[in-house]
Amino acid sequence: MQWAQIILDSLPSTGQWNDNHLHALAVVFSPSIAIAALNLLEREAVTRVDGPCGRNFYQVEDDRDFLTCFPSVPYCTCVGHREQQMVCQHILAVHLAIRTGRCNWSKWNQMDFLNHLAGC
Ligand SMILES: [Zn+2]
Repeated sequence: MQWAQIILDSLPSTGQWNDNHLHALAVVFSPSIAIAALNLLEREAVTRVDGPCGRNFYQVEDDRDFLTCFPSVPYCTCVGHREQQMVCQHILAVHLAIRTGRCNWSKWNQMDFLNHLAGC
């Protein structure tokens, strides 16, 4: 994830990315993952869910699935990530949404938050 982090850190937080930025994303993460993540970002599919005690996770809506992501681990509940242990489009979309401030936001109570995480 070291190269990935360098690329992510180099992206302007305005979201005004040129061809070099997009090419770097495609090289580091694969073209299909980069394109899918950019589509998720465009659809504003990323929500930061805040729970009790300052804990949070990210939820990504992808084709009517709601995937739970912890980008710093990195971890995602999608099949691609579980089977291949790779950075999937959801984790990349969360990083891009954080970078550009394009996260939706939701506050959950303790019961809902813990019940959701218990099901991951
Ligand atoms: Zn995923």
